[in-house]
Amino acid sequence: MYSKCAWEKYENYDEIFSFNEEYKHFLTNGKNERLVVKETVELAKKKGFKDINEFTSLKKGDKVYVLNRNKNVLLFIIGEESLTNGINILGAHIDSPRLDLKQNPLYENSGFALLDTHYYGGIKKYQWVTIPLSLIGVVIKKDGTVVDINIGEDKNDPVVGISDLLIHLSADQLQKKAGSVIEGEKLDITIASIPLKGSEKDSVKANVLKLIKEKYDIEEEDFLSAEIEVVPQMETKDYGLDRSMVAGYGHDDRVCAYTSLRAILDIENPKRTACCYLVDKEEVGSIGATGAQSRFFENSLAKIISLKEGNYNDLMLRDALSNTFMLSSDVSAGVDPLFLEVNELKNSAFLGKGIVFNKYTGSRGKGGCNDAFPEFIAKLRNILDKNNVNYQTAELGKVDQGGGGTIAYILGNLNMTVIDAGVAVLNMHSPMEIVSKVDVYEAYLAYKTFLKEME
Ligand code: MN
Ligand code: MN
Repeated sequence: MYSKCAWEKYENYDEIFSFNEEYKHFLTNGKNERLVVKETVELAKKKGFKDINEFTSLKKGDKVYVLNRNKNVLLFIIGEESLTNGINILGAHIDSPRLDLKQNPLYENSGFALLDTHYYGGIKKYQWVTIPLSLIGVVIKKDGTVVDINIGEDKNDPVVGISDLLIHLSADQLQKKAGSVIEGEKLDITIASIPLKGSEKDSVKANVLKLIKEKYDIEEEDFLSAEIEVVPQMETKDYGLDRSMVAGYGHDDRVCAYTSLRAILDIENPKRTACCYLVDKEEVGSIGATGAQSRFFENSLAKIISLKEGNYNDLMLRDALSNTFMLSSDVSAGVDPLFLEVNELKNSAFLGKGIVFNKYTGSRGKGGCNDAFPEFIAKLRNILDKNNVNYQTAELGKVDQGGGGTIAYILGNLNMTVIDAGVAVLNMHSPMEIVSKVDVYEAYLAYKTFLKEME
């Protein structure tokens, strides 16, 4: 309620719009976590970042990245101060809700070949039918060969999709509750309909197997060791007659990932070591080796300390963690004029008012939240106000309405000082999410300020 419209502070919008052109490009090309990691490393290398394995020691100003299984990446710029004084981290997740192919996906029914899926993260299933979809991922063959799959994104590619029942025969379907109008097991992808000549049984499926053998040199069994994601095919576009917003798939949370990445790419010689931490698996609970709960972060920081200080003990790592500040950057629920009733408007995020801080997320009595310290919030207010960065504070909807979580509490558990910060989104977790361009730019400014000035 204390925040102003961020557009008003600008005389013209050139910088905002050109920054968003680069973001749109990143989002269109980064439709899964592997592609985001790939793009991140490419951009980082251009700014002088090098793989940690290329260093035998580290000194102030050095730029390092650490890769984890091509699905999770950490970037550091070594600061002037000792690492045991703590570092400044921007963390965001790069996985987004989607559909994953099952391990035995391919079957034929009624003259069609289809692929069976299991949805990933929280989706409203009815939003994923009758829209163009792409297949993106990898197939790893027994000999270790990696086959990249990307069907739908090139403008000459075909698309795939999920069918829905025609309205004329939907009398029964329309009586169902929205959660079961489309069942999870019905989210199957139609991929072909031409039979293989001379083949008697499952001839359409046989033709698909022939096609993938020719194009990718893979067999049906190779799906067992594949990771193929089904994502909306749309290109990221300007939204609105005034081009004030961006419509695209995966703003949650690649909008915070990109702005955090740009912040660390665009600073030099920070006082405290700067870090950008892009994680996988947030949408399914941050678990596993590439999620925020993994030891990957601690292991990497231990290695950084050892390379920088020339010696290492566990207490140095513990001190570094305890003295660290972090913005757990994730999208916030923007107020939607068509659904005002779920918000308490004094404490809600509005598109166009700048980066959003969530002291807490959680649900029903703050369950599961990282309740950020007011001492930390005061420091943030101070540096952002000094740098004329727009920000707002919000909670996730009305107290009893629902809720959600982020990675904040996980890093909080390591005794870091953490707050949730991010960009307000409309249509969160849908195939077409919306953000405001000025919020994207303000988030970038806020992240740069945080990396340079938080101490
Ligand atoms: Mn998120
Ligand atoms: Mn999410």
